[in-house]
Amino acid sequence: MNIYLNLKEELRIDPYRELVFHIPLSQLELPEDYIVVDGEEVKVNLHLLKNKDEYIITISVDTHIKMRCDRCLAEYPQRISFSESVIFTKKVAKHNELSEEELHTEYLEDEEDFNLNQFVREEIIVNTPMKLLCRTDCRGLCPFCGVDKNIKECDCERRIWKEASPFSKLQRLIK
Ligand SMILES: [Zn+2]
Ligand SMILES: [Zn+2]
Repeated sequence: MNIYLNLKEELRIDPYRELVFHIPLSQLELPEDYIVVDGEEVKVNLHLLKNKDEYIITISVDTHIKMRCDRCLAEYPQRISFSESVIFTKKVAKHNELSEEELHTEYLEDEEDFNLNQFVREEIIVNTPMKLLCRTDCRGLCPFCGVDKNIKECDCERRIWKEASPFSKLQRLIK
């Protein structure tokens, strides 16, 4: 179930509004790497501002979503925290108008039917760190025996280094 906002109606009396939503994670249709736990919600703060033909929407999110560590593959709560302003305009941008600011400008299809879930989903994806780590010093899995090195020590790297070193040949000769 998507939440649709009628921006025109929300800002009919005041040119500025603050809204708070609690959206169930399961209704954001996030990609698979986001592990959705039943009953979990994301709190979204919205600031709406109307400026002529444009709406400036500032979204703030500070939440934790379960994800999988790139190094040890364990599930952990990834903090996702951001505040971003996006200009939604009904005007179609011409090519010669492209500027630095264009990056944060999006075309507004229907000001009376603004898909909030889609906006929140896109902003969460864009603001998720590229590198997912359960902790900055995660030691990951051993590439040889697969043990989680955060939990257990293994001997693989030392053994392989020893086997590859020129001294190991020498040692074998002596034996
Ligand atoms: Zn990890
Ligand atoms: Zn190992």
